[in-house]
Amino acid sequence: MIKIDFSIALAIALSLMLGTLFFLWIGEGRAKEEREGKRAEHLHQCPFCTYLFFDTPGEEVQHCPRCHSLLTRDDLKEKK
Ligand SMILES: [Zn+2]
Repeated sequence: MIKIDFSIALAIALSLMLGTLFFLWIGEGRAKEEREGKRAEHLHQCPFCTYLFFDTPGEEVQHCPRCHSLLTRDDLKEKK
């Protein structure tokens, strides 16, 4: 049988808990980056008034909330 000192057992338990928290933290960071990346895909800048806005998914023609210009997907992609 393996004899383990109390301090070593405590150190192993704390290491396992900290390791678990570390990997959960890394996983949450990656999930957050992915969410923000998807959000950035829908962020556009109006070429006329430079206003930043989120597009309406599924609509071919977008409309700037500030200057009310009609913008196609091609107009929005050219400025990136
Ligand atoms: Zn505009």
